[in-house]
Amino acid sequence: MLYHMRYRELCFQLRTARHERALSQAALATRSGISRVTIARLETGSAHDTRMSTLSRLCDALGLEIATLPAGARPALEMLLARERERVRRLDRRLGHAVLAARLVTARRKRANAVVARARAVVDRWERERLCSSHYISRWRALLAGPVDRVARTLGLPPEVVRECLLGFVATLTAPPSGLKPEDRSFKQWILESLGEGFARHFMVPFNEKLWQVSLEELTSDWVSWLVPKPSLKDVVNGALGIKDKAFGYNPSFLYPAQGGISALPNAFLPGVKDIVYGSELVEVDSGRRRAVFQDGRTECYDTLVSTMPVPELVRRCTDLPPAIREAAEGLRCVSVYNINLGVARERVSDKHWIYFPEHEYPFYRAGFPMNFSPALGRPGCSSLYVEISHQPDVVTPPAELVAQVRAGLERAGIFRRNDEIVVADVKDIRYAYVLFDRHRARALPAILAELESRGIHSIGRYGRWEHTSMEDAIAQGRQLAGKLRAV
Ligand SMILES: Cc1cc2nc3c(=O)[nH]c(=O)nc-3n(C[C@H](O)[C@H](O)[C@H](O)COP(=O)(O)OP(=O)(O)OC[C@H]3O[C@@H](n4cnc5c(N)ncnc54)[C@H](O)[C@@H]3O)c2cc1C
Repeated sequence: MLYHMRYRELCFQLRTARHERALSQAALATRSGISRVTIARLETGSAHDTRMSTLSRLCDALGLEIATLPAGARPALEMLLARERERVRRLDRRLGHAVLAARLVTARRKRANAVVARARAVVDRWERERLCSSHYISRWRALLAGPVDRVARTLGLPPEVVRECLLGFVATLTAPPSGLKPEDRSFKQWILESLGEGFARHFMVPFNEKLWQVSLEELTSDWVSWLVPKPSLKDVVNGALGIKDKAFGYNPSFLYPAQGGISALPNAFLPGVKDIVYGSELVEVDSGRRRAVFQDGRTECYDTLVSTMPVPELVRRCTDLPPAIREAAEGLRCVSVYNINLGVARERVSDKHWIYFPEHEYPFYRAGFPMNFSPALGRPGCSSLYVEISHQPDVVTPPAELVAQVRAGLERAGIFRRNDEIVVADVKDIRYAYVLFDRHRARALPAILAELESRGIHSIGRYGRWEHTSMEDAIAQGRQLAGKLRAV
């Protein structure tokens, strides 16, 4: 039923009715006897003097009825429905743009360029064949102008999001400081106070909730300063305008071994170390008598024990520690990560090193492409990938299900194609992947480490210190401790 309505709503209703009936403009033209150009103009709102007979033939072809209402009468339900449809259509369009933007960002440069070139050709055709209004065409031209990165940014971030992020950030610059100590301030508070509501809502909160698998209110902010630096106002404005004049983050550049993967790093220490025993699990420590028992039956006596195993595992094995310490260590929490390693039979599925995924529609929070670090990390003609999904330590998902989820997600992101063949898949569950910086950790950890040290046990490294640090930090800690122990 078409009512007395504003012109824009009329155009919208005609277009919606045609879509609902799965008719192309050409098919409707044939069915109604109205030219396709007129239909296109009507639908885009650029036809300004449409005859009632034209409208009537179109409505007939679409099975719509025209009714007139006295001036002033308000067909409330239909109006509301039309508005709601328009809103849904706008949201759908935004979602489509965001997906396309994600594809442009994640696809190889050559492919992304080709997608944008095809889109520009479509706009050229609209103009040539006068299929859309000049306003619509110039808006699309503006969206598709410039290099691919800019197109992706423009499509991916609607102006309202950019505005929300900018205004939110600016508000943080004038807000009075909370005065809380980092370990008393939740990570969520830190995000809001440092980056503002827009960044919180559109990236930081969804990404971090996906990574940490807990509410960000439960986490403290004493670890974030080096990992998530606060940008300057200039950096934020430049980002919003698409101006790239510097690299961001804690690792914008990195070194990687050309051969042998990252094991080249620990292997480089081997010539200086003697008597290494591999594959031997420490099962018990008698910290009073300074004796360590291994699963293979060996017992080693020590003056000083240096351990890099996770603190809760170490404390569990030190059976003679005070109950309060053992209990405190049991309360330390972490999040686990499924590391899904894939080999796919297509070269360079992406030209990126790694990509973060904040959106809920992707089960993973990060995917990386090792062959872009070093071509030796895969077979010629193939691509290697690692995909990371974090999970609560006691939640188990079968490997086949994980691979299927990852495949579907990578296809949605435009990284995999439907017919891509996965030639190898390997799923590793990293039980201790990211330690949770919660209030319990802040309270309990110093006492646990001090108790161990008083018994000659030095617990170091990422999981030994129960912290969020990198390989180079682990190496530096080992070096520092060796220097200290030698000096004794
Ligand atoms: C998903 C993920 C991605 C990462 N990406 C990066 C990155 O890009 N760059 C970077 O610098 N860092 C990265 N890291 C961090 C990096 O892996 C750690 O900082 C580093 O491995 C810490 O070294 P470590 O020697 O302290 O501990 P680990 O490498 O964990 O070594 C501890 C050792 O203790 C052994 N162990 C445990 N229990 C026992 C037992 N009972 N008996 C005997 N041995 C035992 C373990 O088998 C292990 O070999 C990442 C970590 C994760 C989880």
